[in-house]
Amino acid sequence: MATHKSMQHWLRLTEMTHVSNPADGQAMIVLRIRRQDRPDTAPRWEEFAVPRRPNMNIIACLQHIAANPFTTSGEQTTPVVYDSGCLEEVCGACTMLINGRVRQACSALVHKLGEPSSGAGKAGEPITLEPMGKFPLVRDLFVDRQRLFDDLKRTKCWVPIDGTYDLGPGPPVAQQLQEGRYPLSRCISCGCCLEACPQYTAGNHFVGAAIFSQVKLFNIHPTGVALKDERLDVMMQEGGIADCSKAGNCVVVCPKNIQNLESIATVGRQTFVRVIERFFSE
Ligand code: SF4
Repeated sequence: MATHKSMQHWLRLTEMTHVSNPADGQAMIVLRIRRQDRPDTAPRWEEFAVPRRPNMNIIACLQHIAANPFTTSGEQTTPVVYDSGCLEEVCGACTMLINGRVRQACSALVHKLGEPSSGAGKAGEPITLEPMGKFPLVRDLFVDRQRLFDDLKRTKCWVPIDGTYDLGPGPPVAQQLQEGRYPLSRCISCGCCLEACPQYTAGNHFVGAAIFSQVKLFNIHPTGVALKDERLDVMMQEGGIADCSKAGNCVVVCPKNIQNLESIATVGRQTFVRVIERFFSE
């Protein structure tokens, strides 16, 4: 406890992200974290100092805080709640706002956060962490992305199979088609594109860029194409392709460089053809 009280003194003097603890010369990182105990309680900000280690990421900082839940004022607090799974930018669970930019905490390296290419932060300022704002808050940095998974179900973004028996290797796929599908298959359902989208709000049913790219992916899959019409019918409904304003933020923030605007254009064309087909068949 005494250590944390002495930390308070020099941190308040410097107010810098990367400073040295005069007690032992250890370089420290300051994190400013938005805390909220429950969805219906008021948020608050707390500051923490974490000893700097080479190549550490934001998850490592949060792990340190979990083991040492003391603010820079020396007050004991609760460990910061966050979600994480793979720690290699595959599960999307640790997505949050880091210095105001939505991204994964596991791939956010502290020593790069001040660089212009990181899109956020100025060297010498605390690193800010906030939960994504477009999904319901669970606690602190942990949000519930269920709406995204429900929309994947609603749009039937899967490959239909007859049963769980061995179906063999599946149909052969041309190299060119594989190359078109692979970038879309890299989506990790993180929700960055939805967080950055002006059309995606808590009060509407817009499905957003992640869904459009998965609709495109499964519509060009040799087996997934069996559900193409059903997917496109959902795309015509409220929250579908017509609600997209093509702002393009989804492309800028996607950690997998998925070209969501191309997907939006493809699904828009496919939906238009489906409208014409339905007009003449009904
Ligand atoms: Fe995340 Fe990109 Fe998939 Fe959107 S399209 S959910 S940003 S990986």
